[in-house]
Amino acid sequence: MYDALTTRYTFPCPERGEAHVALSSFRRLEQLPGPAQPAVFEVDFGCPCGHEHPGLVRHDELDWAPLGLSADLSFVNLMTATVDPLETELADLAARRIQAGEWPWSFFCYAEERPRPVFPSAFLVLAGRGEGVGLAVRCPVCGTVSINLVSAQHLDVPFHNDREVGVVAHVFEHDAERVVEQFVEELYSAGFDNRRLRLQ
Ligand SMILES: [Zn+2]
Ligand SMILES: [Zn+2]
Repeated sequence: MYDALTTRYTFPCPERGEAHVALSSFRRLEQLPGPAQPAVFEVDFGCPCGHEHPGLVRHDELDWAPLGLSADLSFVNLMTATVDPLETELADLAARRIQAGEWPWSFFCYAEERPRPVFPSAFLVLAGRGEGVGLAVRCPVCGTVSINLVSAQHLDVPFHNDREVGVVAHVFEHDAERVVEQFVEELYSAGFDNRRLRLQ
């Protein structure tokens, strides 16, 4: 499903059978309702065949697999950043970096005026914008939605964080649904402020 070496997710493609896509090719993420453990996300992704397709990805594949962590063999306590024994070298490396205060993904929360660590499951909608990628993120701390403009590597390479990101100067507090609907319009019409993205 996720290949840590190529940093690609594998999804079915109705035209080519299979597609390998990076996180930056995701276009929309939505957690499916229901009691499934781990939770399942429906994603739309931009396929190399030129079309967008839906696909399903488990929560642990979405958030943990890029770090070499799998739900069955490891557990990371996010609050204390303690890490139980992990199997792979990648996981070990990820664990050490998290303990050292680095985080695999981050974004700039406009409402709080500060960068926040985040997992891919907090992404709502993404779109290419020139060389970069615009994404709407729901802040796991304050719940508001911010739109950031980042590089593809910022999303696709865990622990690679852009030094600066673009931020739409607007708090999408009560209209998160509207953001998703009108995301592309927001992305192209809005001005971006640059913010430094440094967690410490
Ligand atoms: Zn395809
Ligand atoms: Zn926030």
